[in-house]
Amino acid sequence: MQALGNTKITPLAVWSEGQADSLEGVLANITKVFRPSQAIIDGHWVDALDSQRFERLSPRDGSIVSSFPALKAEDIDLAVKSARRAFDQGVWRLMPPRQKKAVFLKWQELLRAHAEPLALLETMDTGKPIRDSRSVDIPLSIQSVGYYGEAIDKIYGEVAPSPHNRLSYCEHEPLGVVGAIVPWNFPLHMALWKVAPCLAMGNSILLKPAENSSMTALYAAALAHEAGLPAGVLNVVTGLGSEAGDAMARHMDIDMIAFTGSGRVGRMLMVASGQSNLKRVSLELGGKSPQIVFDDADLDEAALAAAWGVFYNQGQVCTAASRLFVHASIKDQFLPKVLDVARSIKVGDPYDPLTQFGSMISPSQMHTVLGYIKMAKDDGAHCLMGGGALSVIEGGSYLSPTIFDGVQRHHKIASEEIFGPVLAVMGFEDEAEVIRLGNDTVYGLAAGLWTRDLGRAMRVSRALKAGMVWVNGWDACDISSPFGGFKQSGFGRDRSLHALYKYADLKSTSFSF
Ligand code: NAP
Ligand code: MG
Repeated sequence: MQALGNTKITPLAVWSEGQADSLEGVLANITKVFRPSQAIIDGHWVDALDSQRFERLSPRDGSIVSSFPALKAEDIDLAVKSARRAFDQGVWRLMPPRQKKAVFLKWQELLRAHAEPLALLETMDTGKPIRDSRSVDIPLSIQSVGYYGEAIDKIYGEVAPSPHNRLSYCEHEPLGVVGAIVPWNFPLHMALWKVAPCLAMGNSILLKPAENSSMTALYAAALAHEAGLPAGVLNVVTGLGSEAGDAMARHMDIDMIAFTGSGRVGRMLMVASGQSNLKRVSLELGGKSPQIVFDDADLDEAALAAAWGVFYNQGQVCTAASRLFVHASIKDQFLPKVLDVARSIKVGDPYDPLTQFGSMISPSQMHTVLGYIKMAKDDGAHCLMGGGALSVIEGGSYLSPTIFDGVQRHHKIASEEIFGPVLAVMGFEDEAEVIRLGNDTVYGLAAGLWTRDLGRAMRVSRALKAGMVWVNGWDACDISSPFGGFKQSGFGRDRSLHALYKYADLKSTSFSF
């Protein structure tokens, strides 16, 4: 095993050259960027005990991007032992808060210095436009480290009201060893929403990236070690969900699984918890979020949000505004505005800095979405634009932004999460009806509405059953607001100071004297 500390991963000219602002420049830098290809356990780069690996194919053109160790139960067990050892020895847990904070802030500084290679890797893995990796994924990932690092020396317990001869207080104790299992749509961003608060509370962690997107998690974890995070505290366990993920879910010495992904896997994790050690499970799952446009809305702003709310990241967003409800009296005026925005979106090579809409994560995800498009057409919905695959680069997985009007409640595209660039448009006549329609889903992640009527905004935002409601601005919030859903969109919250307490047990102690 090679010690991480001896492998300083900064042999790259790429960021001293700065951000390339042309396709040719990005392609040249891509060849120089360091591509992690091993897992991280106990502060070392490691392979699987059985030496098996899995490949990642580029969604941009189908070429092989890299390969990673396919860790299994025995490897996971080694990682858990390392994490438990670090926790029990207190190398991180017992480090004074301000010293821990210094490690986080150093980590943040290193991530900033490596922002460009991280953005290149994120786009290489996912096919998302490089401009989004640069302006959203990587900056927001780094923000998590800064935000929770700053919080470390500001977390207080409580003193309970007690009789004069007693002192009772509550403390937030770290849980121990946490397993984080994350998806591929915002790989580093989702990972650090969990890793940062979890570590800030003093836990050790095993992070399993999605098999489609392992690189930035490994790269960022290597930088954490460089910043001074002790070995064993942050392990990145690459592998398949059915092997590495399942082994984590069933492990008897993991205290909690923090998950973002599909409801299907979320259910399996709860069963596995019940069948093993009753570990805690927190779930951030999917959505079928409604965006409602009333007749008094700012239609230009609402049209921008209607299109970008569902087409950002090729529609692979858990909060995607995939159901658009438009008041009947403005529908003929409003839809052409949405179409104008959608048609102006530049679909293209993810590495081209001008591209706004890149490739889907994989051929299989593309085919799933094409299946929904076919169902919508068979159901009789009216396709206003898109509706098929695009040949941007041979071997890649490209879809056109797609809009259906005339969608009925019983159509599959009105109820199921598609996780692709497909907008289902429906009309409505009055407030009570649209509240009923908006809530007519098993999900409850996000919802949005556009109106200038303050009373209506208050009534409707209260009535919508969703963890996040946005009035006159889709997704207009940030790390300081909790993120998560109601109903089958899961439970447990990422972001904000609330997320810290998910990774802690409340302990009450009483002194009598
Ligand atoms: P997924 O299939 O549920 O995968 C998520 C993670 O779970 C991956 O790391 C996956 O590994 C792992 N996994 C798969 N099977 C497992 C098993 N049997 N045991 C343990 N882990 C297992 O979801 P996805 O396709 O990556 O992402 C799409 C879904 O995530 C959508 O439903 C979306 O709405 C949801 N999502 C929710 C949020 C949120 O914050 N609410 C954010 C983003 C995405 P592999 O990669 O190896 O399969
Ligand atoms: Mg999967």
